[in-house]
Amino acid sequence: MPETKGLGLYNVVVIGAGTAGLVTTAGTAGLGGRVALVERNKMGGDCLNYGCVPSKALIASARVIDRIRHASRWGLNEQEPQFEFENVFESMRLRRAKIAPHDSVERFESLGVDVFSGEASFVSPYEIVVDSHKLRAKNFVIAAGTRAGIPPIEGIRGVPFLTNETILMSYAKNRTA
Ligand SMILES: Cc1cc2nc3c(=O)[nH]c(=O)nc-3n(C[C@H](O)[C@H](O)[C@H](O)COP(=O)(O)OP(=O)(O)OC[C@H]3O[C@@H](n4cnc5c(N)ncnc54)[C@H](O)[C@@H]3O)c2cc1C
Repeated sequence: MPETKGLGLYNVVVIGAGTAGLVTTAGTAGLGGRVALVERNKMGGDCLNYGCVPSKALIASARVIDRIRHASRWGLNEQEPQFEFENVFESMRLRRAKIAPHDSVERFESLGVDVFSGEASFVSPYEIVVDSHKLRAKNFVIAAGTRAGIPPIEGIRGVPFLTNETILMSYAKNRTA
């Protein structure tokens, strides 16, 4: 850890390491600014973990399945594709893992960014706390993103349901809910 990590005044502190936060952080570091990045959950945010990347990997597998099923469009014999849903998910996880290093703590620290893991809370207009650290900055970027909204349907909390986050992170073989 650099001796100066967390100390003094940052040019920019970015809250949230999703697409928006990562681009802002890399841009600031590239311009020579002193920048810190705070993430309470997974580096890469929705896009890498529960959004663009895993959904496109699943769509790619679904397209192959569809092409096998309708192979006569390409002059081939049509077949009923053989697949295990869990293997399709495993392939998605591997693709996501291959991309993850681009959004990792190590990559951003190599760009000169001070990365903090934890929940950011404002304690003044120019200070936040993250666990035991107090970070001061001239500018803050709040790139805190969003999450799936659960519609206000009576009783919904009492029944199992999936969101993009739960299905793309925790789908497992023999799942019952
Ligand atoms: C299924 C799906 C498919 C998608 N496909 C595409 C696509 O193909 N192309 C496309 O362009 N977009 C796509 N999107 C949209 C894309 O994922 C989002 O637009 C993008 O992730 C938003 O990035 P963000 O940085 O604003 O927020 P997020 O990715 O949500 O990142 C915000 C981060 O802030 C962190 N955070 C929040 N509060 C705090 C706090 N107090 N302290 C510390 N950290 C905090 C969160 O943990 C999170 O990691 C898709 C979305 C979904 C759900």
